[in-house]
Amino acid sequence: MQFRDLGAQYQALKPEIDAGIQAVIDSTAFILGKPVTELETKLAEYVGRKHCVACANGTDALQLALMVWGIGPGDAVFTSDFTYFASAGTSSILGATPVLVDIDLNTFNMSPDDLERQIERVLKEGKLTPKVIVPVDLFGQPADYDRILPIAEKYGLKVLEDGAQGFGGNIRGKLACSFGDMSTTSFFPAKPLGCYGDGGAVFTDDDEENARLRSLRAQGKSPADKYDNREIGMNSRLDTIQAAILLPKFKAFTAHEIDDVNRAAGWYTQRLKDRFVTPTVLPGFLSSWAQYTILLENRETRDAMQAKLKAAGIPSMIYYPRGLHQQEAYKWMNLDDAMYPNTVEATNRVLSLPMHPYMKEEDVERICGELLR
Ligand SMILES: *Cc1c(COP(=O)(O)O)cnc(C)c1O
Repeated sequence: MQFRDLGAQYQALKPEIDAGIQAVIDSTAFILGKPVTELETKLAEYVGRKHCVACANGTDALQLALMVWGIGPGDAVFTSDFTYFASAGTSSILGATPVLVDIDLNTFNMSPDDLERQIERVLKEGKLTPKVIVPVDLFGQPADYDRILPIAEKYGLKVLEDGAQGFGGNIRGKLACSFGDMSTTSFFPAKPLGCYGDGGAVFTDDDEENARLRSLRAQGKSPADKYDNREIGMNSRLDTIQAAILLPKFKAFTAHEIDDVNRAAGWYTQRLKDRFVTPTVLPGFLSSWAQYTILLENRETRDAMQAKLKAAGIPSMIYYPRGLHQQEAYKWMNLDDAMYPNTVEATNRVLSLPMHPYMKEEDVERICGELLR
């Protein structure tokens, strides 16, 4: 059994994907060819943003957005403590300081209450200037923008949605990657919309930000002349072949895959809800189920359950084994576990189960049988 069965998806879409790849090779337009522009147009329209700028990966997408806003030394960037490293690392690499925020244990997303506490703490200390909030749509569920956006407004902060795992989710029909001032996603193969390598995108409604993003992904070039460099940029483009792979995958994603993962989540929850803490999706929210993550009693029962599944040939993952405040790279910040009780609890108790649109009810039945045995 696969944790995320990319092979099953490929078999379903093979003729279109193969033809797309071959067409790029025939065209020899490997860099920023037509499929890239076509994908950008389609994704922007889908999420409901004016512009989509494709780039090399989800990490670069975050960095490019922060570069557009001139984020650097002395700036505080607030993000979740319980996420993939890039949500915070991209601030650090620009010389800014990530300020880590504890999560709500029911959704695993940034706690709006702790966000406000952390902003107040930074203001009181007076060493850093609060600039940006980077909420993460963890495991496919959009962060609590109903509460986060008013906090950003109150303190005059920008919001950069890290939608790497959230693509396809929504809040009352408003899609992930349309919240806040800019948003990003990742096309890493295991993400809700993944390619066959690395890829990412930034979304914005602002024409000037769109132009800056296009310049910054190509060495800070001027719009007209590739060899007229106006600022220091990156080399971060989405390969044309990856765009050609994403086009048919995006079609399947909107046509049925989002429904399929939600159906699979329902199969799990129906069987597991009486024995485990199953995922909470807030009223009015839709998850794209980047992960289906349950909570067990404690670290010992979680580890034992993972071993039991493994013995039965069922893969499972621990997303995430440590909070960012516990990472070696952030030891210098001296952040105590006591500041992040919910993150610490999550790291001890989470277990992510196989989840993808091509799962069959028999697969879920077998996994749950093992969990409940
Ligand atoms: C995967 C991921 C990223 C980074 O995306 P890459 O394409 O791997 O660089 C950023 N943030 C979150 C929350 C992610 O899950």
